[in-house]
This record gives sequence, structure tokens and C-alpha cells, in this order.
Amino acid sequence: MFNILSTKKSTKTLNSKFENDQQKFEVIINTIDDGVVLIDGNENVQLFNPAAEKITGWKKTDVIGMNINNILKLVNDKNEPYSDDANPIKKIFLMPKPIRDNNANLVTVSNMTIPISLSVSPVIESDNKVTAAVIGFRNISVERAEEQKRAEFISTASHEMRTPVAAIEGYLSLALNSKVATIDSRAESYLQKAYTSTQHLGKLFQDLLTSAKAEDGRLSSHPVVVELGSFLEQIEGDLKFSAEKKNLFSEFVIGSSRNIDASTNNLTENHQVKPLYYVLIDPDRMREVIINLFDNAVKYTEEGKVSIGITGDSDIVQCYVRDTGVGIPTEDIPHLFQKFYRVDSSATRTIGGTGLGLFISKKIVELYQGRIWVESELGKGTTFFINLPRISNDRAIEMQNKLINPS
Ligand code: ADP
Repeated sequence: MFNILSTKKSTKTLNSKFENDQQKFEVIINTIDDGVVLIDGNENVQLFNPAAEKITGWKKTDVIGMNINNILKLVNDKNEPYSDDANPIKKIFLMPKPIRDNNANLVTVSNMTIPISLSVSPVIESDNKVTAAVIGFRNISVERAEEQKRAEFISTASHEMRTPVAAIEGYLSLALNSKVATIDSRAESYLQKAYTSTQHLGKLFQDLLTSAKAEDGRLSSHPVVVELGSFLEQIEGDLKFSAEKKNLFSEFVIGSSRNIDASTNNLTENHQVKPLYYVLIDPDRMREVIINLFDNAVKYTEEGKVSIGITGDSDIVQCYVRDTGVGIPTEDIPHLFQKFYRVDSSATRTIGGTGLGLFISKKIVELYQGRIWVESELGKGTTFFINLPRISNDRAIEMQNKLINPS
């Protein structure tokens, strides 16, 4: 039980210990379980706490004054050293904003690679200049191992469950086929409902499996050169029917007078459009993304139209799926691409879904160094944009020829 007397006593002992701010600061820095490092404007170490020693294997006495990049050696998931552009410790001196990286790995003194969560915060002087930085980091091996176990469990369970669900779906579809089975109309309506629910279940297991693979990097992908314009036009042709079933107009729009600024997402007017948009993608994977965006557009639109469009500049191909539907509240937009996230509204409550589609779509787009984001206005409609690196026509033809004549 909580003992007020002993608490009072220990508070008193502590108070006497913390007579000045310097002592308090030292107790925190020496006790905290996270590695804390202070570097100066030349990226040299000025402070290295005991937790930083424990995590990295370096001794404080050896690192003070040394360049931090020789101490905190950061590598990505493929064990490649961070480029200067990706390294938060380099970026902090260019952009005075705290940076967090939960996917970093650290190479320790004994050459072990451990996953860490890293945050780098700038020390800013009055003229907005970054003169030093505070680096905090934590060993997240346990969390990563748990995540991995969870993903493996989901992957195995959904794989095992998908097979019997596919069999149930198959038998229900046979029962509903008047050429092979005879059932009365009441049984037919029950079986139709069972069939629809089984299809949802099958989709959920499939999405769970794909998302587990996307998380642990097992998502298979065979990128080839694809002309995205004709690719999207064909998909729109195949999907038109599902929009028309809901009395929605569906269209494919090639080119536009708009220009792309990938860094700010600003679209400016009057850009000359080139007709062939070559990209390097796995067509099966990208089809999944476009179908998901189109299905969502149809699901969340009651009247108007759904458009698939493409435009680009010399470096980037941009495609989009636009609808005139319910729109997405501004506060939900930052969370949309998270696993299982669904907007809590009357529309989503009545419309089925797993909240996995956009998470998977983002993972797929990132496989091709692409970017996906959304712009939406409540009650007016939503546009999902995808930017992909563009391959020049000459390069695309050269790559295609190489595939046909490998010698
Ligand atoms: P699901 O559609 O299966 O719920 P998604 O990951 O595809 O999962 O989408 C996540 C959420 O984003 C949806 O539940 C919905 O709230 C919102 N959303 C996605 N696309 C649209 C759209 N075109 N219009 C309005 N809301 C959308």
C-alpha cells in the first residue's frame, strides 16, 4: 500500500540531494535509461550519458570531442549506412525542427547492429541558427522482436484461415448457381447474405496477410517498365462497371494543364504534358493500389463522378483518383495511412471495410520510391495522389529492349 510517511521521508532525502539545478540535471542525465548525447555545431560530442555508453559500447572518456558520426553509426534495414540526406544528425543543422526516426539501426563498438528509436532536437540561437543538437536514443530490440512475432502470427493465422474461407465461398457460390443446385427463394436470400459475408472475410484475411508481409519486407514485387497512361486507362475501363452500378459517372483523364511540385504538393498551371508516362512498377501490385482507391471512391460517393487521371513533368509521373463524395475530416487526414484506421462517421459505420487498404497502398507505392497522399474537402470530395519517379522514353525503350534481347 502507498505509505504517505515513507513518501514524505524519501521526498525530504531527495530534496536535500537536489540543492541546485546542476545536481538535478546530473541525476536525470545519469539515471535516465535513454542514451542522451549533446553535440556542438561541428558535430563533436560534448556530453555522453551512461545509457549512451551502455547502448553503444563506447566509453564517455573516449568519445568527448570526437565527431558523432564516428560514434553513432546509423544504418537502414538493408544494413546500408545512412546517406547525409537521410541522417537526422546531419539534417538537424539544415532544418531547425526536432526529427524522430523509429526505423534506425545502430552499429555498436562490438559491430553488433541493434534497432533504435532516435530523436534529434536542435539547440537554436536567437537568430534561428542551430548551434548544437541533443540526440536521444533507445534500444528497441525487444519491441521489434515482439512486432515480428505479432506479424508472423497474423501472417500464419490469416494464411491458414483463408483456405477454408475460400472453400466455403466456393460451395456457397455453387449453391447459388441455379444450373447446379435447386434451392427455394428464402434459402437463396440467406445464402446470398452468407456469401457476401464470406467474401468480406476472405478480403480481410487477404489484407491481413498482405499487410503482415508489407511490414516485415516480404511483399513480393517484380518491377517492370510500364506506360502508366495506358495501364490506368485499362483499369478504369475494367472498373467503370462498379461505379455505374451505383449510378456514378466514371472517367479517365490523361494530362492536364497542371504542373507538379512534389515537395510541396502544389499544383501550378500551364505545364506542357508529355503523352507517355513510363515508370518502374510491379503492375499486379500497382493494380491493387488503384483498385483500392477506386473502390473507396465508389464506396464513399453517393452522386457525381469518380475520375482516374494522370499527369507529369520530366521527373515525376502523377496519377490520381478523385471523387465527388463525402470527403474526409481534416483531423483524420494525418492518420489515414495507419493500419486499421477508419474515419468514425455515419458513412464508414454503415460501409464495410478493414482499414487496411490505404496502409497496404502506401507500402506498395513506397516500394517504387513513390509517395501517396490525400487532399479532401468535407462534403465535396477527395483526391488521392500518387507520385512515381518517371523514366524517360529513351531509357524505357532501352530497358524494354534489354528484356527482349538480354544478350
Ligand atoms: P477501408 O475502406 O477498408 O475502411 P482504407 O484503408 O481503404 O480502409 O481506408 C481507410 C479510411 O479512409 C476509410 O475507412 C474511410 O474512412 C477513409 N476513406 C478512404 N478513401 C476515402 C474516400 N475516397 N472518401 C472518403 N473517405 C475515404
